[in-house]
Amino acid sequence: MLPPTMAPRPPGFPAYPPYQYPPGFPPLPPPPPRGPRRAAAVVVTIIALILITTLTLGVTAAIAGQSNAVIGDGAVKSPDDNDGSDVRVNYLEQKAKAELADSAEGLLDGNEDKWLSVYDGSVHDEMKRRYNSLRALRVSSFDYQVVKPPEDKSGGTWALNLGVNYCLGGKKHAKCGPSGILFNTEWTDKDDSFLITRVDESDPNSAGPRPWEVEDLKAKVGKRAIVAGPAKYEDKLNDALSVAESAAENADKYAVYGKVDRYVIFLAGDEEFARWYGIGDPGDNVVGFAIPLPEVTKNGGTKPGGSEVVVHVDRAQANSTEFTATMRHELGHVATLHHSPEHHRIEEDWWLSEGVAELIDHGAPKDAPLKEHPYLRSRDVQEYFKKDKWNGKMDPATPTDDQLTGSAKYGIAFYGVYYLFDKYGKDKFMKYFKKIARNGEDPDKSTKSVYGKSYDALLKEIAKQVKKMAKAA
Ligand SMILES: [Zn+2]
Repeated sequence: MLPPTMAPRPPGFPAYPPYQYPPGFPPLPPPPPRGPRRAAAVVVTIIALILITTLTLGVTAAIAGQSNAVIGDGAVKSPDDNDGSDVRVNYLEQKAKAELADSAEGLLDGNEDKWLSVYDGSVHDEMKRRYNSLRALRVSSFDYQVVKPPEDKSGGTWALNLGVNYCLGGKKHAKCGPSGILFNTEWTDKDDSFLITRVDESDPNSAGPRPWEVEDLKAKVGKRAIVAGPAKYEDKLNDALSVAESAAENADKYAVYGKVDRYVIFLAGDEEFARWYGIGDPGDNVVGFAIPLPEVTKNGGTKPGGSEVVVHVDRAQANSTEFTATMRHELGHVATLHHSPEHHRIEEDWWLSEGVAELIDHGAPKDAPLKEHPYLRSRDVQEYFKKDKWNGKMDPATPTDDQLTGSAKYGIAFYGVYYLFDKYGKDKFMKYFKKIARNGEDPDKSTKSVYGKSYDALLKEIAKQVKKMAKAA
């Protein structure tokens, strides 16, 4: 049962922190004509972070049930005329749990009838679509929770708030790091059945709706990645998977906080960008983003879970340098941020998160020295410095930045992280990243403990080096 002290659910979509860079990053200018390793690359690097808070659903007192019908043989005694409403509510909750667990087993076993057994015929078409999409994604775990007791809506109709944690691409019931959604359902208690008659899409508070809730998905599954998209994009999946597989192999080298079970990438057109994950229309220039997702906790709250990636379908070509760079960058976010501990985000994590994603795309200093591997945004950073626009700080990009400023901020973040890798090594950096970007710890204390100096002193040191590196590029 639920603890009695749960806070009411916060209304509406959680606001992005003010420093969070929302979708809509402008494209880069073309690269210099001398032909660095990637021509005509337009890398949009967005990470849309859902504010992960301990979102809890309120407990509403259940109202007396109106019927005493015996609804099946459960472990819980069927209520009779003499029982109070709480007995009936408890009975229905246990009944729902048993039916949902059964249905989930059907999903994992590829038994569609069993999956449908908890649903009323009126929603079978919709639930068949979900079944097919989840099966295409190789769903490997699907664990329901009843978040609060059934609420009597009268006339035999009951509202149930549910959560579900799922994993994709693994072996059935294998240990995995799940992502979750919270959603509302309506059930009908009639004769000898208790069935779901309505399933709402998961709401933006839990980064919903997810693609598998609202699309007829097709998918290609590789060793480390799954690439999926609406059926109309099916012909793009093979190309995208080959790019995703090598980007995943690359990102795995940086997944030092825990292995990513399987990288999950969705191809989206404008319509899907605007609909999925509740982030709204990200604008015309979005190429891709990685979105950290919540995991539903035992008490119906949320904590950070896995991440999923969305890439624009128009860019999905195996030989596209832009597509490759975007994939490498976004999977870099997944590898470094997935299942971070519960924390409040701090502004200082922006340059570390984007900087390391840029580095994962570009390559670490020992693998990709800047002389032989020119950095994509070097011209923008140079231009930005020429205009004397930099304040020496690692400010997050914002929606009001012009194209040059936005790109230069990513570039400066890259140089900063590249310098820390080069000078002090990867291990120290990953320790530092863990403190600030994954745990939200105090920047000054974190810098002292890892690099033995104040945050300000480190930024000054970095600023000097960034200018040097950019000049030499
Ligand atoms: Zn990014």
